[in-house]
Amino acid sequence: MDKNTKILIAEIPGEWTERLRSGGTNIWNESRSGEPHRNGLPEVRLNPPEAGLYAERIDGAWYWVSGCGKCNGTGESYSYVVCDKHNVCSLCGTHRSKITGAVWGRRDGFACAPCQTREDAAAKAEALAKVAENKYDPWDYRAQDECKCPHCATVIHIESEDYGDKQMDCETCGGLFDLVTEYSVTFTTTVIGERVTA
Ligand SMILES: [Zn+2]
Ligand SMILES: [Zn+2]
Ligand SMILES: [Zn+2]
Repeated sequence: MDKNTKILIAEIPGEWTERLRSGGTNIWNESRSGEPHRNGLPEVRLNPPEAGLYAERIDGAWYWVSGCGKCNGTGESYSYVVCDKHNVCSLCGTHRSKITGAVWGRRDGFACAPCQTREDAAAKAEALAKVAENKYDPWDYRAQDECKCPHCATVIHIESEDYGDKQMDCETCGGLFDLVTEYSVTFTTTVIGERVTA
């Protein structure tokens, strides 16, 4: 796709400004739960004439422009829409239309199941090989700053709302382990009344 693609969308008045995107579909004046948009304008839904395009208002008119990060060469690893040519597995390049079944979303697009399985196995082997360089010492996994899998030493980020004591399985090695969230005590003091001085 040409990154300079600019196709006038004749059916959308240039004065319209309320547009949102749902997948490849562009929706102007979206109505919510049967109610028309608060601006009173009719809802219009359009799909681009070609995958990878989305509607953009430029100088008071609507145009289909390229939203494919790879075509645009913006360097952005993830684009919301992708053109047909770039709708491929990031790892093996197989086109989406040739892939049956689920794909795994990645930062730079998606991976097909065989590629994902291969990559997961490689990550597991790498982590296990690295941890095998040192003798296992349970103390290496006690009171750590981060949650570290006691099988493969992969650091697992845990959001504060997910803190707690629980059983977990490691996404890297598949190992099962117990997590205990430990809190340390700190002390804060503030003066009551006037501070006592010499
Ligand atoms: Zn593209
Ligand atoms: Zn693949
Ligand atoms: Zn692990």
